[in-house]
Amino acid sequence: MIRDKAALHKQLAEWRHDGGRVAIVPTMGNLHAGHLSLVRLAQQNAERVVVTLFVNPTQFGDGEDFEAYPRSLKRDTRSLEDARADVLFVPDIETIYPFGIENATRVSVPGLTEIFCGSRRPGHFDGVTSVVMRLFSIVQPEVAVFGQKDYQQQLIIRRMADDLSLPLKIVTAPTVREADGLAMSSRNAYLSDEERQVAPALYQTLHDVGEKLQAGERSHAELEDRATQSLVESRFCPEYFAIRQAIDLKEPDLDCSAFVVLAAVRLGKARLIDNIVLGGNLNSNELDG
Ligand code: AMP
Repeated sequence: MIRDKAALHKQLAEWRHDGGRVAIVPTMGNLHAGHLSLVRLAQQNAERVVVTLFVNPTQFGDGEDFEAYPRSLKRDTRSLEDARADVLFVPDIETIYPFGIENATRVSVPGLTEIFCGSRRPGHFDGVTSVVMRLFSIVQPEVAVFGQKDYQQQLIIRRMADDLSLPLKIVTAPTVREADGLAMSSRNAYLSDEERQVAPALYQTLHDVGEKLQAGERSHAELEDRATQSLVESRFCPEYFAIRQAIDLKEPDLDCSAFVVLAAVRLGKARLIDNIVLGGNLNSNELDG
């Protein structure tokens, strides 16, 4: 584990001397099999892998779970050793925000950050892009790996990288699920036993809508309404359920061939998000333009 920027740079310089590519896997820790799948994908795309662990305060809104966010550094360190990640970088807040949070330079992607999770969590994505940009600047990776689980997030980061001509490749990793379909997430720990029984219905609903789309149903508004209704019947409080173009989250054009069905719900203390992509490859140019 490395906490210090100078020590990380020394390690990176040694690797660069040997000529290998470096991949970054940004996380907030409390690692599960989803995170470890990102590490494996990073290893397939680069010779060295830096996993970063930083619970970034600027992406949590007032009243959100920054303080309560589960932290398990010892267990995370062991999991990453087993996964043969090269370095776990755990910066402290002064390393990430040397001039303090209030004075920190911010990076903001208009448009994409203002819809869906962005409208429900104002400022959240500005916190994400700003911290990811800082991590990119510190590590200067050739490759960065993000999870499809946070579909809007990876799209925003792709846009930022594209817009700022960042010299790196973004790779998106498929969502890893529990046996019953629930997308793995640190926040699943907030579910009671009873809520945990209900939670897989979110993925089931996405999956059912995906089947209907594939069968040729084109009344998106009706599919969205029926899905929202069935989520309510399963005891969720839906925030949104939407069928969109995978490339840009806009309402699908008539000739759209790659869709994302994305949803956010509340269930007790937990806020769950999930999505499925239909008709497109996450890492191909089809979705990029
Ligand atoms: P987090 O620690 O929750 O900020 O997540 C760090 C990275 O892991 C992000 O790129 C997430 O999209 C990704 N991730 C989280 N859960 C999963 C999952 N179940 N499957 C795949 N990737 C995931």
